[in-house]
Amino acid sequence: MKALCWYGRSDVRVEDVPDPKILDSRDAIVKITSTAICGSDLHLYDGYMPTMEKGDILGHEPMGEVVEVGPGVTNLKAGDRVVVPFTISCGQCFFCKKGLFSCCDNSNPNAKTAEKMMGHTTAGLFGYSHLTGGFAGGQAEYLRVPFADIGPLKIPDGLPDEKVLFLSDIFPTGYMAAENAEIEQGDTVAVWGCGPVGQFAMKSARMFGAERIIAIDNVPERLNLAARECGAEVINFDEVNVYETLQEMTGGMGPDRCIDAVGCEALAGGTPDGVMDALETSTLMATDRLHVLRQAIWSCRKGGTISIPGVYVGFGDKIPIGSLMNKGLTIKAGQTHMQKYMPMLLEKVQSGEIDPSFVITHEVPLEEAPQAYATFKHKQDGCIKVVLKPGKSSTIH
Ligand SMILES: [Zn+2]
Ligand SMILES: [Zn+2]
Repeated sequence: MKALCWYGRSDVRVEDVPDPKILDSRDAIVKITSTAICGSDLHLYDGYMPTMEKGDILGHEPMGEVVEVGPGVTNLKAGDRVVVPFTISCGQCFFCKKGLFSCCDNSNPNAKTAEKMMGHTTAGLFGYSHLTGGFAGGQAEYLRVPFADIGPLKIPDGLPDEKVLFLSDIFPTGYMAAENAEIEQGDTVAVWGCGPVGQFAMKSARMFGAERIIAIDNVPERLNLAARECGAEVINFDEVNVYETLQEMTGGMGPDRCIDAVGCEALAGGTPDGVMDALETSTLMATDRLHVLRQAIWSCRKGGTISIPGVYVGFGDKIPIGSLMNKGLTIKAGQTHMQKYMPMLLEKVQSGEIDPSFVITHEVPLEEAPQAYATFKHKQDGCIKVVLKPGKSSTIH
């Protein structure tokens, strides 16, 4: 089959690789009909994520048709149309039983490495380094899905891929970010990062009763989308001081809830701490750039909540712990507990409450994925979200 393979910084290639096979009784093989490039894939593309190996297949936002199931999978059969969550969860451990599916104790075969990095391992993830299990990803024609009796969500006929594909990650991730923000009716919610997760966090914040949404980014297309689709007021951090502007907009209070949908590759935004971050990560003194998290803590109103859906991978410093503690802030974070949210959010799509396809700007054949990564990374051509279509070809073979 064809698959998008990682070879190093800014080097991904579409190659012929062996087809995946059933290895465990709870596996399924899914023929991918649509799959997406995620902002968090850029952490791999940019070389931020340790334990990547040449030839690793990327991608964790897939959907398609079940073509084969192991004998332990009784709830799926060949021909079923499914969305596959980016997290791999056993459904049986302490954490899965509590609904903390992304904290699954049984799905990362490289748990020992993860423990060294984080104290405990979290769930295995598709296409996201050997630290999270080394599982082949879904930017490919076929995908092996472990614990397929727990993960994939069956999609009823009549819903196009584009409306349900993002149940694989970014819609539940944005939704859990809004839930973690502990939004109360009438709140003002500031969202750093207007990529797809930020957009879904804003849409979801409305569902939780947010009255004002303030979107922070420096890409005009993304700010425009936030204003148009989510009714957000916008701040371009290239043009103004974010902290001062947020205080002005909220009568000196600060936003009630702050969502960091940026994560470990925050841009400096001309700030001294951002410049220090860039220096430290480039000299391996830190793995993560914490500028956005610091700014969120600094800006948030007293007693407010910081929610972190943005991906962090290791270590960062200069957290304003004094501000955090003395202002009485709450921080909630986490990879998304996908299986907990997918069925409920599918219902919201079915009822027409939301059409997640609003973020799609590009749809290209899998063969064009390397160019699409570059376009997405550099935010060229108005690129906000790329859908890859394996099996569809724009080139002549
Ligand atoms: Zn993703
Ligand atoms: Zn588990």
